[in-house]
Amino acid sequence: MLKVEEQQSVGTYENPIIRPMVDMDHEQVLFCQDKATGLRAIIAVHNTVLGPSLGGTRMWTYNNEMEALNDVLRLSRGMTYKSAISGLNLGGGKAVIIGDSRKHKSEALFRRFGQFVDSLGGKYITAEDVGITTRDIEYVSMETEHVAGLPEYRGGGGDPSPVTAYGVYMGMKAAVKHQSGNDNLAGKKVLVQGAGHVGQYLVELLVKEGAKVAISDIHEDRIKATKAKFAVEVVDADKVYDADMDIYAPCALGATINDDTLSRLRCSIIAGAANNQLAEEARHGAAVMEKGIIYAPDFLINAGGIINCYSEVIGYNRDMAYRQTEDIYQTTLNILQKSADEKIPTYLAANRMAEERIASIASINQRI
Ligand code: NAD
Repeated sequence: MLKVEEQQSVGTYENPIIRPMVDMDHEQVLFCQDKATGLRAIIAVHNTVLGPSLGGTRMWTYNNEMEALNDVLRLSRGMTYKSAISGLNLGGGKAVIIGDSRKHKSEALFRRFGQFVDSLGGKYITAEDVGITTRDIEYVSMETEHVAGLPEYRGGGGDPSPVTAYGVYMGMKAAVKHQSGNDNLAGKKVLVQGAGHVGQYLVELLVKEGAKVAISDIHEDRIKATKAKFAVEVVDADKVYDADMDIYAPCALGATINDDTLSRLRCSIIAGAANNQLAEEARHGAAVMEKGIIYAPDFLINAGGIINCYSEVIGYNRDMAYRQTEDIYQTTLNILQKSADEKIPTYLAANRMAEERIASIASINQRI
């Protein structure tokens, strides 16, 4: 595999010297620049042992290329683990476009970006991420077929949020089963932080099962919309970490498990959709375990979205996406058991399981 440092000759837009903070062993990093459209993007292919790398494109106002590079390296590596642990035949990749998604978008920019994606010959499949809409992805798809996350009327899988919520629900039930031998959520106090796309669907599943659900959101309209549909309590956004709850379901932002919140949280299970919930994976992953809290790894239980995308790559079938998402239940149980047996944090158990799968498939990739 090519190391990132060895690819410096590929160059960058303005900065001739790129020194990423970490070497994460990526296969390929492509810097894309087009003066006519103002496109500045980076595509990172982390690992394709299991299959083509799939991961969304993020459009963000990065302060410089270094920030963008570090973000895309970190995110693409995360996708490798997410797909591997979910049993998908996909590798990990991600792209970032440097720019303001409210100001710098155009049809030409996305089509030029699509040409760069196409130049990788299917090694990278793109989709939506922060700052990117379905419309943008449709422009990308005019230049390349290596696209997922198209709307339903274009043969795509549509909004992945209900599938993601279903996976989180499965992971949560598995955590309860591991804890008590019974996966029934009835009567459990669950606090859903973030009543957004995923949060809404998760609340629906929890209420249906008889859980005592509380929600928290910084936007009043989201709270009103949720309260209009479901019998839920509301917790002020700044009181979440002191609230009385059995299960904390972070469905808003990352890094909410940190030094400050860990000293306050009174739950016994953490299971939610947000990405990168542990502020520092190693330190806070260990601290959660020491506190006796069962943490269902985020990249495992929020994989419904990527499973939905994968289904699109192989020929979209909503039922199949849900069926495969249901497997999150058993995988979560396996990981929690591995964590207990080996006395290691759950995130580490999940990482190791993903690495083991990649290594074992790498060994059969040389055909007989
Ligand atoms: P969303 O933007 O629709 O919802 C997020 C909600 O969180 C919003 O209602 C927002 O107002 C609220 N929020 C923001 N800050 C908050 C705070 N401090 N306290 C309480 N609420 C707050 O996003 P989404 O699509 O529902 O995704 C939620 C999380 O799950 C994100 O971290 C996302 O990366 C992750 N995720 C989503 C999917 C998916 O399929 N949508 C898949 C995998 C992971």
